[in-house]
Amino acid sequence: MSWIDVLSKIVEVFPPSDAYRFDETPPLVAPRPAENFVVVKPSNSEEVSAILKFANEKSIPVFTRGGGTGLSGGAVPTEEGIVLSTEKMTELEVDADNRVAICGAGVTLKQLDDAAFRHGLSFPPHPGAETATVGGMIATNAGGVRALKYGTMRNYVLSLEAVLADGRIINAGGKTIKNSSGYSLLHLLVGSEGTLAVITKATIRLFPQTRDMTLLAIPFPTMEDAMNCVVEVARKMLPMALEFMEKRAVEIGERVSGERWVSREGEAHLLMVFESFDEAEEAAKIAQSLGAIDVYAATTKKDQDRLLKVRGMIYEGLRKEVIEVLDACVPPAKIAEYWRRSNELAEEYGIELITYGHAGDGNVHQHPLVYEGWEKSYFEFRKSLLSLAVSLGGVISGEHGIGAVKLSELEELFPEQFELMRQIKLLFDPKNILNPGKVVRKL
Ligand SMILES: Cc1cc2nc3c(=O)[nH]c(=O)nc-3n(C[C@H](O)[C@H](O)[C@H](O)COP(=O)(O)OP(=O)(O)OC[C@H]3O[C@@H](n4cnc5c(N)ncnc54)[C@H](O)[C@@H]3O)c2cc1C
Repeated sequence: MSWIDVLSKIVEVFPPSDAYRFDETPPLVAPRPAENFVVVKPSNSEEVSAILKFANEKSIPVFTRGGGTGLSGGAVPTEEGIVLSTEKMTELEVDADNRVAICGAGVTLKQLDDAAFRHGLSFPPHPGAETATVGGMIATNAGGVRALKYGTMRNYVLSLEAVLADGRIINAGGKTIKNSSGYSLLHLLVGSEGTLAVITKATIRLFPQTRDMTLLAIPFPTMEDAMNCVVEVARKMLPMALEFMEKRAVEIGERVSGERWVSREGEAHLLMVFESFDEAEEAAKIAQSLGAIDVYAATTKKDQDRLLKVRGMIYEGLRKEVIEVLDACVPPAKIAEYWRRSNELAEEYGIELITYGHAGDGNVHQHPLVYEGWEKSYFEFRKSLLSLAVSLGGVISGEHGIGAVKLSELEELFPEQFELMRQIKLLFDPKNILNPGKVVRKL
């Protein structure tokens, strides 16, 4: 009897299909999926436990998959094995008195947002793709535009249920904001990208709903002017979003959205969202005093949506032309320097880079466009670029994760940490069945 026959006695087994073969990683850098794999869709942690126990005994690789919206190839089954999809694990309960949601790993961002809203609450982080799942967002420590004020996924996970490689079910944390109870296994699992355990359930912190918003759109003559404004504003207040776009990114957003941005002048543009009109007014004054070309305030939802659409559609306009989406994070006060030096480096290699990002938290999204013979020089360029981010006090990934695409940079730039990560992996998953070859090299 083949291992698939035995597995099908534990859980229903589905044949491979493209829906489980790829994620949203741009194809030029995405890992190559295996030809043969099977898909399982457990409904609860006991089923996950039985599947992992079996896979561990037989040393069969298991690739956990949430919404498949990842941008680092994390969910791609790179070896013959089992794709464990969390799509049926969608139980969701809101405990409004304690401001938490108890979610199955497969609950989507949209389902969580809607449930929180129905209870008069909100889930502030909004990492772009609404079909991303709670399990996937935790496993990548997802961020988004509101991280400056509201933090990343790590700041929302109060407790986790997870299944270890050998099938043991563990619970870490509780329904409490505070927790000083020994080593934080919970935070070790946040950002572990399916390599240490399968997350099956999580208690997620909710917030009061946001109040009326004011949006400012501000063009600046130079990136340095814009970033001086970012630093000054964030010294005095925390906007809900503080985004930047270089001029070319704005032009792409305009073209794809069919909307008009506030100005075509200036090298850099800021988009700030405030929950208080007074703060927006103060920020506008700061921008004017620091050389803004103009300050445009949008107070109606229609006007705000129009401008947010320009920012929101940039990636759509670039999707087919990019080699990949980079997401290095640098200290916010270093963004202008990183941007300028990145562009100089790109010019040396003859590479066109389109850049925008989350100025408030330093997360810079750089989009290298495909060029003839890119395979020969691109990876050397990327290594230099990410080294530059690290030399400025930054990190190589702010929100997309390492997955299958940034292992060599992690290893080269952080050798001691990389070795410790390998040892941690060995402790959690001695047979290396959980997402092998992702984040750390195979042992
Ligand atoms: C248009 C677009 C916009 C985006 N914007 C943002 C953004 O603003 N901020 C941001 O942070 N990201 C963004 N992303 C990336 C992506 O949405 C996030 O990485 C998201 O957290 C992935 O969730 P997922 O459920 O799709 O995970 P998947 O892609 O399915 O998996 C991602 C990783 O998590 C692991 N995993 C999934 N579920 C589990 C589980 N239950 N237990 C253990 N491991 C698990 C997988 O093995 C894989 O390694 C964007 C993506 C797109 C396509």
